[in-house]
Amino acid sequence: MSGRHTLMLIKPNAVKNEFAEQIFLEVHQHGFKILACKKLQLSKNEAEAFYFVHKGKPFFDGLVEFMTSGPIYAAVLEKDNAVADWRKLMGATDPAKAEIGTIRRKYAESVQHNAVHGSDSDANALNEIFFYFSAREIVNAGGGIIQLHDINKAE
Ligand code: UDP
Ligand code: MG
Repeated sequence: MSGRHTLMLIKPNAVKNEFAEQIFLEVHQHGFKILACKKLQLSKNEAEAFYFVHKGKPFFDGLVEFMTSGPIYAAVLEKDNAVADWRKLMGATDPAKAEIGTIRRKYAESVQHNAVHGSDSDANALNEIFFYFSAREIVNAGGGIIQLHDINKAE
């Protein structure tokens, strides 16, 4: 069963502005199950590793600085068509271009301080989920062996 899981982050600006609870509520109301969730603060090494594909781009250093500036939430979301549906609900990278009603349109401050992250493919979702969560944590969070098996099949 491919495409049932994605990785969501609530970025430091949204956490600092106390939007996290509202964002989780909207995610839930749009039919996503929050399979596992944790609050953490990224180190510089971790942020550079997570955003490795953007290394060398003009915004990379600023992005790493921003993403390490305070606590974030990481969550595994479960739903049919999770990657595409979460990206749709999240909205465009630049909040000025994001559709009305999307999370970024409502809670982002700028293209960089854009409130949330979402994986962009099933393969990346798998990598990103296991960047933040061990298989054991997902099982213990109630994901269970069946969902874990589903995640593994998302490749
Ligand atoms: N970003 C930025 N400046 C840009 C483009 C992106 O600071 O011109 C940041 C922004 O926080 C974005 C992240 O880098 O969410 C990753 O960029 P990507 O193109 O993957 O956008 P996303 O998948 O998050 O919509
Ligand atoms: Mg991206």
